[in-house]
Amino acid sequence: MGKPQETKIIIISGPSGAGKTTLLKKIFLRPLIKKNFILAVSYTTRMKRKQEKEGRDYFFVSKEQFHRLIKKKFFLEYQKVLNDYYGTPRYFLKEAQKKRRDLILCIDVKGGMYLKKRIKKDKIVTIFIGVPTQGELSRRLRKRGDSKIIKKRIALAKKELQFAKVYDYLIINQNLQSALKLLERVLITERLQRRRQ
Ligand code: 5GP
Repeated sequence: MGKPQETKIIIISGPSGAGKTTLLKKIFLRPLIKKNFILAVSYTTRMKRKQEKEGRDYFFVSKEQFHRLIKKKFFLEYQKVLNDYYGTPRYFLKEAQKKRRDLILCIDVKGGMYLKKRIKKDKIVTIFIGVPTQGELSRRLRKRGDSKIIKKRIALAKKELQFAKVYDYLIINQNLQSALKLLERVLITERLQRRRQ
């Protein structure tokens, strides 16, 4: 059977509007991905959007609850993004280790950089999901219609795009099918590489 496999953390970041959520939902329909990876569900203090489900997209909590969880060291990492807090619960890492799978976190660049500094190089992989142009990103964000904070999100997206170069992989999501193919290839390659070590 060989040595037990150690879990790798796969960070996926990119501006909102880049299509990270859609990509992840679709990629987890693929058997090889389902068998080898776990996708962490974060806690957040932001309001639930119409199409979102508690426990599937996020665990929605109040700021008070979130701060209590911080004190209890419940989070592997957490960050304030715009006006809200987002955090990855530690228990997903334990679950991934127990099942000998790799753990995928879809988190912002600050969270990504925080973990990159703290986790051994060979135990972390960073993937940035980008958009073809900034104009295209603004167009996608405006289509979403959460108009009040759209300007803030566009400004944040511009900042986040500057971090793409420090990620291990950059996937430009111009076409969903091609982006999915690339993402799957990266995930499986990383998984196989580690098995051979
Ligand atoms: P949204 O409100 O659009 O769902 O997410 C806003 C940003 O927060 C996105 O960049 C998303 O990846 C990030 N995010 C979601 N969960 C976490 C988390 O647990 N930790 C960190 N650091 N960022 C997160």
